[in-house]
Amino acid sequence: MYFKAKKRLGQNFLIDANIQAKIIAACQLEVDESVLEIGPGKGALTRLLCQKVARVVAVEIDKDLCAMLTQDFATFKNLQVVNQDILKFDLGFFLLRKVPLKCFTVIGNIPYYISTPVLQRLLRYRTYIKRAFLTVQKEFARRIVATPGSKEYGSLSCYIQYYTFPRILFTLGRRCFSPAPSVDSSFLKLEFKETLPLGSNDERMLFKIIRNAFSQRRKKLHNSLEGIVPKEALHEFFQLRTIDPGARAETLHLNDFIALAKFLKKKIKKT
Ligand code: SAM
Repeated sequence: MYFKAKKRLGQNFLIDANIQAKIIAACQLEVDESVLEIGPGKGALTRLLCQKVARVVAVEIDKDLCAMLTQDFATFKNLQVVNQDILKFDLGFFLLRKVPLKCFTVIGNIPYYISTPVLQRLLRYRTYIKRAFLTVQKEFARRIVATPGSKEYGSLSCYIQYYTFPRILFTLGRRCFSPAPSVDSSFLKLEFKETLPLGSNDERMLFKIIRNAFSQRRKKLHNSLEGIVPKEALHEFFQLRTIDPGARAETLHLNDFIALAKFLKKKIKKT
């Protein structure tokens, strides 16, 4: 059936059959798995997923595509097509909390303009998610896996690396898609961590520190964190961890930021 791609919904369909197969192989899916697919489009991956796993929930914003999928894939009894915006989709409510924790694998070739909000959404529902495989813009993937000292390293790297172990599995050239986008993509794996080092209150403090530290990345930390971390406390912390007192955000590892949040918590408790 002819379908005109809608640019405003980031519709670039994966047409390269070798890459489709490579993606499914890279996910190393088990037969009893449940998959949440974001933006199934015309179903290039959906078909392969339905043939492979126990359950596929495919959330697609475009009602025309949902109608196509429902009709074309009627024989797959393990497929549930949900016509919703993934940014509004309440995964917890949808599942009525009756599923085991960490039971979903998320797979999505997501439009570039919603990459960050989609990730925020997935982290919000992290109790249900074991891992995610996402096709994202190459530069965006590099920012996620970046480490201290590189120019891509920033608050996004720390935010995602706090909750997950991210890894770029391979690159997809723009010609794998139709219509071809103007940029190349990367296939990214996010393994969600089982346990996290901080409680939710301390996480708030951690991300406040990280956001402020990187919002003025050229500044030294004792200036960019002014008003958030008392100067003397920061000085004491730097001495304890043998960090250069003139350090900037880009030289600190995520573990340093976590240690700083813990250190401040102890200080506040003492006073
Ligand atoms: N997975 C298909 C493939 O690989 O060929 C389609 C990928 S295409 C890049 C992105 C898909 O996400 C489109 O089908 C688009 O309609 C859908 N989409 C865009 N925004 C969405 C949203 N907010 N919620 C759910 N689906 C969305």
